[in-house]
Parts: sequence; structure tokens; C-alpha cells
Amino acid sequence: MNSRSFNPDETALPGIRALRPYQPGKPMEELERELGLTETLKLASNENPLGPSPLGAEAAAAAAGGVNLYPDDVGFRLRNKLAQRLAVAPEAITLGSGSSDVIDMVARSFLGPGRNAVYAQYCFAMYPIYTQACGAEGRTAPAYAPDHPWMAYGHDLESMAEAVDDDTRVVFVTNPNNPTGTWSTRGELEAFLQSVPRHVVVVLDEAYTEYVRDDEYPDGVALLPDYPNLVVTRTFSKIYGLAGLRVGYGVSSPELAGMINRVRHPFNVNSAALAAAEAALDDEDFLRRSVEVNRKGLVQLREGLEGMGLKVIPSVGNFITVDLGRSAEPVYDALLREGVIVRPIANYGMPDHLRITVGMVGQNERVLEALGAHT
Ligand SMILES: *Cc1c(COP(=O)(O)O)cnc(C)c1O
Repeated sequence: MNSRSFNPDETALPGIRALRPYQPGKPMEELERELGLTETLKLASNENPLGPSPLGAEAAAAAAGGVNLYPDDVGFRLRNKLAQRLAVAPEAITLGSGSSDVIDMVARSFLGPGRNAVYAQYCFAMYPIYTQACGAEGRTAPAYAPDHPWMAYGHDLESMAEAVDDDTRVVFVTNPNNPTGTWSTRGELEAFLQSVPRHVVVVLDEAYTEYVRDDEYPDGVALLPDYPNLVVTRTFSKIYGLAGLRVGYGVSSPELAGMINRVRHPFNVNSAALAAAEAALDDEDFLRRSVEVNRKGLVQLREGLEGMGLKVIPSVGNFITVDLGRSAEPVYDALLREGVIVRPIANYGMPDHLRITVGMVGQNERVLEALGAHT
């Protein structure tokens, strides 16, 4: 066979051929290399500006001495600790190399040709990618309109329930949602869960749950006893500051977890990540500080942006999304040239918006100043 004549496009699965890969936030190192800049600031990937949980980072460093050994495949200690914290059985927990790994496991377990997944307009970009990679159809349910009275751009869970049909096997709900920072109330979520037929798995992605302080905001894990078709996913990437280690988890009925576990790659969570996550769970001081820095930073960014006459989407996450009222791409580029990385979200169908991760006070000032000079 002549290897030069091989065309991967002809051989690849149709879903993969049409796939456009996930676009991560631009790494600081890359920008520094490209533009010869130093002192760059990245507020593009919702990373914790306080750094890693100190307890977590210490445990990861200590684990480095043992990396000649494969990690504990079942993550016994982390699973048990999580189970205790969440008052569920250890068998209810699925560990992932990031929570996106768990979401991918759900997709691979339940989606394929002839089936579909439902997600919201302006949803997290990985859901359509995982859906398409499985050869399933993705169905986008319209979000609340930009002029919605109390949750502009938010999930319209009624429209999502309406999009479910006989071929639907997975629905992705994000609470709060990325990239909008919008959220669903307990009432909305429960009404939705009750209306979804039981042949459908509901993924409730709670990547930012620790940041939310509102009595109406539901705890997905508390809903599990009533909804055996529910998987709640959470991560150590955001508030725990461990994004670089890749560790997250799903919580569900043990039966559902057992099904997902069949497609899990062996040793999917590395030993440093397992140790760090376990230790970070005890880092209450770090969590408290992270919530506080974020609460103040959200106010600072909102007030600064509104002070420039810009409209923001009210957010309960660790990021805020702003409407520039014109194409965001040139503004994103101008900020890059000044060493400030934010996130354009045209690929989410929001070409006039930028998403800005909440930073420390001085970092927020810097991004506001840079934006002020270009809007
Ligand atoms: C960041 C994020 C995740 C988690 O990513 P991992 O690093 O893989 O845990 C999941 N869902 C949403 C909506 C996110 O924003």
C-alpha cells in the first residue's frame, strides 16, 4: 500500500470528520512566545487566581516520589472521602481525569448513531463535541432570550424537556452554566427532572457549584435519591485550583455509575491528582478565601464594565460575560497585544461577547483598563 495515498478524511467516522476540536483559552506561554511579551495575564479558562489549594499542591508534590507505580485504579481513598462528604455510597462515585472525562464516559455509554443528546443554546462546548464523536445527533434547545426579565441567556429547561424525544438518551444541564454564568432554581430543575422520561440520562454539570450562594440554588447530589437517571458532575479544576492535574467526579446511583465505569480508561486519574484532590477536600480555608475573592471580584468587574456602558450577564460563577455591542474579535486581539488573555465565545454563538475569569483585584483592574482603552 502506498502510504502517501492515504486520506484520513475518507476513512474517519462521519461524526469525527465534521468535528471541530475544542478551543481552549490561549496559554500564557504561547502568547509570550508569539509576541515576545512578559507579564502576561490570563483570565480565560476560569482557573483559580489564588493558585492551587496549598494542601492539594503539597500532596501532589509528595506523590511525585511514587510515580513509578501505577495509580490506584479505583481511587479508593478519594472515593471514600467524597462518599463520606456527600453522604453517598463509594460505588456512587465515578472518578475522572477532570469532570469532562466523566461526561465523555456518559456519552460513550449511552450515545451512538440513531440516538440524540439534548443541550442548551450557549452550553459548554464539550457536550456537542462528545455527542458528535459518538455519532449521535446533537439537539440544541433555545435558551432564554437576551431580553429575558431575570435570566437572560440562561437555560430554558422547559424548551430542553420539549426537545427530548424517543431517541434521546442524554440531556446535559449546566448549573451554573458556562459561558453565561446563569443558573437554574431548585423549582425549575425539579420540574424538569420530573418531566424527563426515565429512558434519558440527565447530566447535571456542577463545575462551579462551590461558588454559588443562593437559597434557591439546588444541590444536585441531594436530588439523587429521587432521580436514578441523574448524574451530577463536579471538578477539582475550578475552586480547588487543580486544573493542571485533571481530576473530577460524577455522582449517581451505583447502578448508573457501574454502567459508566465499563468504558473508563484504566488508571484514568493519576496518582498526584488523587492525592491532591483528597487533601484539597480538607482545605476549608482556601475554599473560603476563593469564594470571597470571587465574590468581590465579580462586583469589581461588573461595576467596572457597566461603568464603561457595557452590558454584562449577571453571573454566579467565577467569570463574567460582557456584551461589547460589536464584534469581540478585534477587542480580544487588541487585549492579546497588551498581554491580556480573555475568552472570545463566537464559537458558542456569542460573537459580540467576551468571557472574563474573575482575578485578583489588581488583575481585574488591568483587564478593565485594557478593555476601557479598546471599547
Ligand atoms: C471547567 C468546566 C468543566 C470541568 O472541566 P474539567 O477540568 O475537565 O473538570 C466541566 N464543565 C464545565 C461547564 C466547565 O466550565
